[in-house]
Amino acid sequence: MPNKKPTTDVRDKKKYENNRNYNYNNSSRNSGKKYSNTKPVPKVKKPLFFFDGMTVSDISESTNINVSEVVKTLMMMGIMAAQNQSLDKDTAELLAGELKVPFEVDDTKDYTNFEKLEFEDDKKDLVSRPPVVTIMGHVDHGKTTLLDTIRNTRVVDSEFGGITQAIGAYQVERNGKKITFIDTPGHAAFTEMRARGAKITDIVVLVVAADDGVMPQTKEAIDHAHASKCPIIVAVNKIDKPNSNPDRCRQELSDLGLLPEEWGGDVPFVNISALRGTNVDLLLDTIQLVAEMQEYKANPKREAMGYVVESKLDKAKGPTATFLVKNGTLHPSDILVCGDTYAKVRVMYNDLGKQVKTALPSDPVSVIGLNDVPQAGDQFLVIGDERKAKHIAEVRTFRSFSKSKEKTKVISLEDMFSKSDEGLENKELKLVIKGDTSGSVEAMKGALEKISVNGITLSIIRSSVGTITETDVLLAQASGAVIMGFNVLPLANVKDFAKQKGVQIRLYNIIYKALEDIEAAMKGMLSPVFEDKSIGEAEVRQIFKISKIGTVAGAFVTSGSIKRSADVKVVRDGIVIYEGKLSSLKRFKDDVKEVKNGFDCGIMIENFNDIKVGDIMEFSVSEEVESE
Ligand code: GDP
Repeated sequence: MPNKKPTTDVRDKKKYENNRNYNYNNSSRNSGKKYSNTKPVPKVKKPLFFFDGMTVSDISESTNINVSEVVKTLMMMGIMAAQNQSLDKDTAELLAGELKVPFEVDDTKDYTNFEKLEFEDDKKDLVSRPPVVTIMGHVDHGKTTLLDTIRNTRVVDSEFGGITQAIGAYQVERNGKKITFIDTPGHAAFTEMRARGAKITDIVVLVVAADDGVMPQTKEAIDHAHASKCPIIVAVNKIDKPNSNPDRCRQELSDLGLLPEEWGGDVPFVNISALRGTNVDLLLDTIQLVAEMQEYKANPKREAMGYVVESKLDKAKGPTATFLVKNGTLHPSDILVCGDTYAKVRVMYNDLGKQVKTALPSDPVSVIGLNDVPQAGDQFLVIGDERKAKHIAEVRTFRSFSKSKEKTKVISLEDMFSKSDEGLENKELKLVIKGDTSGSVEAMKGALEKISVNGITLSIIRSSVGTITETDVLLAQASGAVIMGFNVLPLANVKDFAKQKGVQIRLYNIIYKALEDIEAAMKGMLSPVFEDKSIGEAEVRQIFKISKIGTVAGAFVTSGSIKRSADVKVVRDGIVIYEGKLSSLKRFKDDVKEVKNGFDCGIMIENFNDIKVGDIMEFSVSEEVESE
């Protein structure tokens, strides 16, 4: 690879201008002469605008120089390249020097990482945009009913009979202003999107049934909403029910930190009946009030960008996706990159199935014209040039393919504040805490909150009783948090999921050890940890109580292999109920050292007889883990 740079810095703005003037001034176009049909128009050389994945023919197109001349010049440089061959930046820069055209590359415009591009909008172009709302809450508290009722409140479009097309989001109009609702309720989908980097939702409406009060998923939804920093509005639902008690809901939610406005807090509460439509208008008014206060703005004049809400492969229409425009205006025939694919928008439909010519900020539209099916949560950006869009998509596809082979970078406690890290100021350590009892969770939370290390804030984004679930992992991923488990053991599939998502799970059974680790991590001095490495699992299928000896568990090894010398955890409903050593491991009548996956065995645990059918025994050995 030649490493010689061009002798003149052609990127210098002034020289570039001169160069451009030179080219233009030498063209007959600028010399005021009229073209005759017989005289060929001299080609005007243009700068080489380099982008990642640029091919020889792209360079020809960018510079307005014949492909054959580009290929010839490359040959003279000792590089044999075909038309469709990509050149790296150094080679392209050298080539620009040889071709005597300015070389331009703007790192801030690396469209292959378009999610990271920052566009500044002129303040005078900014106008209000509708808020985007997600509805969350415990199962059966009325989320779907509320979404349906709100959808039905919209003014029926006479032309289209108001037949809603399920495109993943819809809009209603109230007081002449729109509100966009995401059609998939619940915090799992919400956090999944956030984990993919999609910032779609502005406001969370938390539905709590007044006859049921705060339930486990209500708490989970609050944690997920808080982690996203979206304002919350509480809809106290089912007030039509005789046993409803909205005040009890307020009290329970106040205890969780959601203090109603009417009690001096900052959270709007609205009593509703989603089924009967009672106060649904008031809820919409409240959403608009919160939106006004938050001043959601966008610039409809710029090229559109936004996120994929939903996507599918339609047999007749090909790949289709619902876009939610976050900024700018999307038009049919716009060319865009989206996730690892690209599109020339052919047709756009709104949520009433009506073909539309524009999609403004916060509008959801179903788009046809994609080259492939993107994923929900992918970002799109209009870039205007189809070849470029195609290239960017190709580069990104290749990158994703290579990335999928790489190990996911784990956000670990060790790395977070490692010594080599400069400037610990203004750093935030986010934790998700799960424990076996409310006592242990509270104790851990209380003790952690007392740790103070200069410049580092510790925020516990979720703390609750129970084992670690996939939703916890998603929340941690979306928020860049580490999960601390106290006397709990996640299931094998959750552990795998965490690995895949790059989330560190740290398990403890002694609180002070957890505190020590956190403090050491915050001081950037966490030493290598010994972690229990799971070697296998067995499920208890039968119990034999033998007098004077104790309880023998008839177990079946369901994964890995189990060893007589290993540590064992007895797990019931995801909670570790006992930890210890084996006192015997047998196959039929024989003592054995190891039993492999797929075999039955008899297990006795030292000093522990309270084994039940269905318990899981998790076998592990202690191993030093490298921070990843
Ligand atoms: P989701 O699981 O949160 O989406 O809950 P659904 O919307 O499916 O509602 C669960 C059940 O509660 C359904 O039988 C609804 O008809 C009922 N429901 C929802 N809202 C109300 C309400 O305001 N009043 C009454 N009485 N029932 C409701």
